[in-house]
Amino acid sequence: MQRITASCDGVVMGRTSSFLISLLMWSLAVSATADARDASEIRQVRFGGDEGETRVVVELSSEMDFRAFTVSDPSMRLVVDLPRAAWSVSGLETGEGLGYGLVEDFRFFDRSADASRLVFELEGPSVITGQFGIPANADNPHHRLVIDLRRVESVEAEAESGFPEPSDLSQLIAERGEATFAEPARDRRVIVVDAGHGGHDPGASANSAEEADVNLAAALELRRRLLATGRYDVVLTRSDDTFLTLEQRVQVARDANADLFISLHADSAGAGSSARGAAVYTLSDSGAGRATRRAANSNDWSHINASAQQPVVRNILLSLSLREKRNRSAVFAEMVLDSMESVGPVLTNGHRQRGFYVLLDSQVPAVLVEMGFLTNRQDAANLTSPAFRGRLMQSVADAVDAYFDRDDVRDTNPVRAAQLTPIP
Ligand SMILES: [Zn+2]
Repeated sequence: MQRITASCDGVVMGRTSSFLISLLMWSLAVSATADARDASEIRQVRFGGDEGETRVVVELSSEMDFRAFTVSDPSMRLVVDLPRAAWSVSGLETGEGLGYGLVEDFRFFDRSADASRLVFELEGPSVITGQFGIPANADNPHHRLVIDLRRVESVEAEAESGFPEPSDLSQLIAERGEATFAEPARDRRVIVVDAGHGGHDPGASANSAEEADVNLAAALELRRRLLATGRYDVVLTRSDDTFLTLEQRVQVARDANADLFISLHADSAGAGSSARGAAVYTLSDSGAGRATRRAANSNDWSHINASAQQPVVRNILLSLSLREKRNRSAVFAEMVLDSMESVGPVLTNGHRQRGFYVLLDSQVPAVLVEMGFLTNRQDAANLTSPAFRGRLMQSVADAVDAYFDRDDVRDTNPVRAAQLTPIP
């Protein structure tokens, strides 16, 4: 059984239904508990990549919500808004530092009694291609905020820039509410493993290897290894050489009420490229826009109570759900990359973001794993070797185990909670 308790004052209650509050409370409690503790410290600002694509990483002493956006007037800047944080970067006591790649320099300041801001001056027109948080783990004791930038044409940079609209409802609730939520325990987590391509779509083909076959062999192997733990129910989107549409693959995850979706692929690179190694993709910002439109037009909402059918409630639920899904997907992506690296090569900046269709579901955390490049002779030999595939899929299964061992990986998400919650 689950319990939801919410406390909030009359201002909030007067503006929305208590039903909505419960849901929002629960979701905000998941992401915002750290905000109420002592101010987090900024410990380090790091950069990676190059002048075309730059990754900004801010390391913190504890988890924090953040919001990154760009402004183009009077100069091109990346702005990162945080709850009030203390600046504690050794060697940069003034709160200013030099950048790298697309970033010229940066500065930190307190905007108000409860808000801080980091401003990065950029070399030229740029857009944000991804932003996500990575909680502390065994390898890094710091919580990280990651923002990926890409250089683009001025027109595009201007179109994407601007101060975001404040969401006063969620702001108000974040300030005034607190909640606890105990979720129903499930005996087994449900994992959907998707072997990419199949049937009349063979996918990439090189060095006498066909992607659809490699993907299927890997998917069957991963299922075997996951089932061996006794912890999971595993659903395959296909278990033989048949063709499924991308929408059918996404629907398998939804119908199974999956806790995690893993799509397996093998990459190919152009002639003359020496690219090799694995990469893991999660949903990009532009993909999130597509996911929102897809969900808004779907019938995912039909079982929700009538009060949640109001567009404003649905929109809030949808954005909470998508944020939760993307956070969890990013956490799993980092874990699976770390784990795969112990078996074979992975690309530099191996966690990437794209709008792949199979990642578009608004609820189920999802990654697409490119296991290696069939166009690379060594990768192709590895991926067609049952022994190597066995080790690689064991590393993925180990990451799944480690992911579900985390305290912050919950059973359900806001939309599912809405379906489960008795309406007061
Ligand atoms: Zn593929």
